[in-house]
Amino acid sequence: MLRRKLFVQLTEKHMRLQHKTALITGGSSGIGRETALLFAREGARVVVADVDDAGGNETVTLISNEGLEAAYVHADVSKAADCEHMVAFAEKTYGALHILFNNAGIMHSNDDDAVSTEESVWDLTMNINVKGVFFGCKYGIPALRRAGGGSVINTASFVALLGAATPQIAYTASKGAVLSMSRELAIIHARENIRVNALCPGPLRTELLMKFLNTEEKKQRRLVHIPMGRFGEAKEMAQAALYLASDESSYVTGTEFLVDGGITAAYVTPEL
Ligand code: NAD
Repeated sequence: MLRRKLFVQLTEKHMRLQHKTALITGGSSGIGRETALLFAREGARVVVADVDDAGGNETVTLISNEGLEAAYVHADVSKAADCEHMVAFAEKTYGALHILFNNAGIMHSNDDDAVSTEESVWDLTMNINVKGVFFGCKYGIPALRRAGGGSVINTASFVALLGAATPQIAYTASKGAVLSMSRELAIIHARENIRVNALCPGPLRTELLMKFLNTEEKKQRRLVHIPMGRFGEAKEMAQAALYLASDESSYVTGTEFLVDGGITAAYVTPEL
């Protein structure tokens, strides 16, 4: 009897994203992949968009293996036609779009200070990190309107708020743009039942940052500023994105949602 009650409780677990469709850019790895998995486990049908087709299909397989719903679409977020297509694909595949996670981004290994950074590195970073979010919204927001509202989450970074001693001028500028664009979008669409928030991760132990902080010295130079004394995990960002995507955050819009191990709060950190 007790066992049956427990079984019923477990199978009737409240799914935080039931009946919702989520489109996640950069879903082939890191934050995007972890979020795709978590959203699917919470009942969402997930569309994974990326330029890395092998990684994207792997994310979908991981989700399907759990008996959950996901589909992959190739999309370079710096291209308008690809973004228009990924949104149309989501609506065609699952009927509507409710959650848009503009998460794809790059951190170029030749991104440095203003003097030594090439114009091509600046342009590439801006095209993906900033124009990609703009295109996601340009085509995604009409779809959210058609669904009666929804949640947009744009991945910015703690570097939108703090200067870093390891220079990455294009990346930092691009994340500042994502943060301010998110604020304005939130205000513009507030009366349409569309919420827009910027997720601002701290330094994470994902490939993106570890490739950039490619020596132990560079890693330590970053770690020393993090009160928690460790890099964050992509899974921890997925949990934050889940809150912003779900109706639990129904009164949250226009925020810089920091998930950063305390880095932006710190003036002096404890000894590691
Ligand atoms: P990641 O490299 O694991 O994932 C980024 C994904 O974006 C990859 O799958 C990549 O193929 C995809 N991508 C790159 N260019 C693309 C394009 N033009 N179109 C579509 N997809 C493209 O890195 P991550 O750490 O998971 O990063 C996700 C987001 O989080 C990025 O916007 C990044 O700037 C941001 N972020 C990361 C950190 C960190 O420390 N890792 C900190 C703050 C913010």
